[in-house]
Amino acid sequence: MLDIQLPDGTVVSHPDDATPLSVANAIGSRLAKAVVAAQVGAAIIDASRPLKPFANGSPIPLRLLTERDPEALDVLRHSSAHIMARAVMRLYPDVSLAFGPTISNGFYYDFLMPHKLTEEDFAKIEQEMAAIVAKAEPFEQFSLARQDAASLCKDMKQGLKVEHIETGLASHSELGFYRQGEFVDLCRGPHIPDAGRLKAFKIMSVAGSHWKGNTSGPQLQRLYGTAWFDKKDLQAHLDQLEEAKKRDHRVLGKKLGLYHITPDVGQGFCLWMPKGARVRGLLEDFLRREMLKRGYEPVYSPHLGRVELYETSGHFPYYRDSQFPPLFVHDAGALVDAWARRLMEDEDFGPKQETMFLQAAEVLGFDSANYSKAEGKESKLAALNEWQRNHERFLVKPMNCPHHAQIFKAQPRSYRDLPLRLFEFGTVYRYEQTGELNGMLRVRGLTQDDAHIFCTADQVEEEFRNTIELTRFVLESVGLQDYRVQLSLRDPKSDKYVGSEENWQKAEAALRKVLEESGLNFSTAEGEAAFYGPKADFMVRDCIGRHWQLGTVQLDYNLPERFDLEYTGADNKSHRPVMIHRAPFGSMERFVGMLIEHFAGAFPMWLAPEQIRICPLSEKTNDYAVELEKRFTEAGFRVTTDLRGAKVQAKIRDAQLDLIPYMAVIGPKEAETHSIALRDRISGELGTKPVDEVLAMLSEEVASRRIRKVAERKFAEPPQATEPSSHEY
Ligand SMILES: [Zn+2]
Ligand SMILES: [Zn+2]
Repeated sequence: MLDIQLPDGTVVSHPDDATPLSVANAIGSRLAKAVVAAQVGAAIIDASRPLKPFANGSPIPLRLLTERDPEALDVLRHSSAHIMARAVMRLYPDVSLAFGPTISNGFYYDFLMPHKLTEEDFAKIEQEMAAIVAKAEPFEQFSLARQDAASLCKDMKQGLKVEHIETGLASHSELGFYRQGEFVDLCRGPHIPDAGRLKAFKIMSVAGSHWKGNTSGPQLQRLYGTAWFDKKDLQAHLDQLEEAKKRDHRVLGKKLGLYHITPDVGQGFCLWMPKGARVRGLLEDFLRREMLKRGYEPVYSPHLGRVELYETSGHFPYYRDSQFPPLFVHDAGALVDAWARRLMEDEDFGPKQETMFLQAAEVLGFDSANYSKAEGKESKLAALNEWQRNHERFLVKPMNCPHHAQIFKAQPRSYRDLPLRLFEFGTVYRYEQTGELNGMLRVRGLTQDDAHIFCTADQVEEEFRNTIELTRFVLESVGLQDYRVQLSLRDPKSDKYVGSEENWQKAEAALRKVLEESGLNFSTAEGEAAFYGPKADFMVRDCIGRHWQLGTVQLDYNLPERFDLEYTGADNKSHRPVMIHRAPFGSMERFVGMLIEHFAGAFPMWLAPEQIRICPLSEKTNDYAVELEKRFTEAGFRVTTDLRGAKVQAKIRDAQLDLIPYMAVIGPKEAETHSIALRDRISGELGTKPVDEVLAMLSEEVASRRIRKVAERKFAEPPQATEPSSHEY
């Protein structure tokens, strides 16, 4: 018998061949019908997968997932990718399958096929999918030994899968497949019980992609879709997309002159135009003031650091693929680096290549004496590494943390210096794939509102509480009232984390305690922590119901260890500080991009790049207009005057289109009485008021950071899936 522990703690006994479905059936047939998949520990499995006893004999923790669980939506979406691929294979000849993972709100599948897919094909594919769904055939799992798996894929003429089995999956002895009618796909799963569970889906778009992201490899077609358990959820999602299109920061950013991205500078590099820079500057000033008030100290650090600095921090070569390649001062640097990586990966390693490498490296000035003496891969690598250490290599900085750690280390620290809170608007660089770039939201150069707090173990709880408070204050100041916190914890079964067991437990407990006491809406996500510590992410809901991951607070017991950071305690002994990374905005690029969409470009008064437009009725009041402009400017407002000879209606229309909060309309009467016919962008005419009254009223609006209307109507929030996960090998 198997002992199974249900989420409420009860332990039930089931036969050895029990599945989540049979467990559900024992509880009730309605539950059995509703079950989509199941969770055992951190793993999501098929409802029909036999449950395996734990080696230590403890009961199997089982959670049955129904349509209401966010994890189920992800399972549905990957299953939809299979159904879509099946439909495509029925409709078009010679389709080779690549990968078909889930993404936020949907899924895609990459195909290698001669027919070029266009939007005109979508309806036909959807119809075929509907036919598959109507038959409601089950998803059946089976496993094969690696060689047999390769043969099966060969028989099915799935060349890409064969290649993947032979290269990427070379270390797997057994591989899983899912069969759905005539359609068989190499897949880790899990899947929904049968295709009939798919109630609402739509093919969204098609784009080009490459096999394993390699641009020199075969060109694939990526077909995107979305899937939901309910037609009404699909509709809510489509409504949201429709509204999002109107608010697209890439369109508004260009129209309003906020930022510019040009291939002449480089994809993913944001040029802040004067108006966008104004918004960013206001946000930075605001945050800088808040941080100074809360005991943070500003620092600056360079855009480069030695590769060794990031080796110490662990950011290199761990994250090498997402970083810009190192800058080598020595001519042979790049070659030596490339050869060292070949040796490490055991790829193309042979005497012939080695001779070629040595010849080329020597031409470039590499002194090969030590390398030639070395025997065996390890000592050859050691010789290369030593040469590299003696020849400077730099990284454009992927992270600010190592620099701040060095600032901590620059002088002896005592417990009286702690907590030490260092902040910097630090620009970092990430090598994002071209296809992943998205306006300001996903860029290659980004400025984090970064800070690192160095404190004692006893101060962690208080510092974490303070950072949470600061983040809440900052978000609410820009009108983002609707948010929750995701606490990312480690997957206890994984070994990818660095740092001691004791430190992890301490950190996770402190974070949980603070969040529980804060009254914030929070959830925990096991296995989502960074490799160096648990973290809390703020998930913000915008005015059209979309969720954004913004501010983050991250504990780190690891970097202080790696950088050997110390302070002298009250006991006169050396102690290790704890480090907290935090960024309430995340990055200025992403935050401003998000705000553009949230406000649909119409920033609140305190952030508007242009707050007031003075519109004289005719040339006769131009002098008064200039005088007013001067007054408003001196009072600290961002104001412009429209002195064109155009009709005042045209001036007002243009100011409306520029999304300026207020218009000051002035004619001879206003000039005479020193007043303003004030117009509000949203509510229209506000009547004629004395200048002093207008100044006081607008100053108050700025000081209180009042938020004006952000959306025309309420939007239904479609259910959220868990973070997309890879169902692929
Ligand atoms: Zn799959
Ligand atoms: Zn950091």
